[in-house]
Amino acid sequence: MGKILVIANQKGGVGKTTTAINLAAALADYQKKVLLVDLDPQGNATSGYGIDKNDVENTSYELMIGESDIKDCILTDVLPNLSVIPANINLAAAEGELADTEEKEYTLQRALNEVKDGYDYILIDCPPSLNLLTINALCAGDSLLVPIQCEYYALEGLSQLMQTVSLISERLNDNLKVEGIVFTMFDSRTNLSAQVAENVRENMDEYVFKTMIPRNVRLAEAPSFGMPITEYDPKSTGAESYMSLARELLEKGGDTWQ
Ligand code: ATP
Ligand code: MG
Repeated sequence: MGKILVIANQKGGVGKTTTAINLAAALADYQKKVLLVDLDPQGNATSGYGIDKNDVENTSYELMIGESDIKDCILTDVLPNLSVIPANINLAAAEGELADTEEKEYTLQRALNEVKDGYDYILIDCPPSLNLLTINALCAGDSLLVPIQCEYYALEGLSQLMQTVSLISERLNDNLKVEGIVFTMFDSRTNLSAQVAENVRENMDEYVFKTMIPRNVRLAEAPSFGMPITEYDPKSTGAESYMSLARELLEKGGDTWQ
């Protein structure tokens, strides 16, 4: 049965989508069957795979409001082993529309339960907010992966996120665990990156992935070509680091990656 990995941090621009796109592609490269759910109205994960977000009929919006069956929302084999549920700006209206429905926190969980068996990993790219969409992701998830940008304000909001997670695991989803924290945009030339990493390690060392994602211009370029880094420039340090993150994740879960 597939493991559902929620990629969330309410802070914007920290590398959530870059991690979702490229970790999903790296897992698919290791022959895992992967589904990426774009749960952000910005639709960056969708366009990052070269999918025209304004030309998709069934998206995570139709899924969340119950207008489409999940099977009709899945774009299969966007890449070998990788399928995508796309998103676009329509999803911004879902929160309001969900407000009056019963068990609104479990909408995504109910849908994913129908297809979970067909995948090894399901990754959910969340918006930069702790809104009802992110709560739906956390209620559906088995574990949470938090990208943290190595800069001065990195820790801001982390304790709030962890509080939300413990509330959700107490009250709504006792299955939810913290998979780990991954440092993104790490710049080995600056003291600041090293200090931030050190500081987070002091507080939450057990959760921090050994792999650090470096700042790498190829990672920033890839989405405009509609490709994950493993396709756009497989020899780049960015590609190597996401392959390494995938291996670490698989090993942690007792999975193989030959
Ligand atoms: P949002 O909160 O808006 O959804 P996000 O957390 O998903 O943002 P990304 O979109 O992944 O963050 O990244 C923010 C910007 O930083 C993007 O322009 C992206 O290309 C760039 N970026 C992310 N990771 C790296 C990296 N390792 N090296 C260089 N640029 C990066
Ligand atoms: Mg994003």
